[in-house]
Amino acid sequence: MPTYEYECQKCEKHFEVQETIGAHAEHHQHRCPTCGSPQVRQVIASVHVQTSRKS
Ligand SMILES: [Zn+2]
Repeated sequence: MPTYEYECQKCEKHFEVQETIGAHAEHHQHRCPTCGSPQVRQVIASVHVQTSRKS
């Protein structure tokens, strides 16, 4: 499952959210775990995907 990094616009804290690509595509509204603000934006550059897939 991909991990997305978000930055709170209010307190500028970064936090990570694990969600499926499907859930992410539905633009789930995340809240800052520190201050509870819904004003968060995704930090695109820090997206990293765990490739623990067996082949
Ligand atoms: Zn915050």
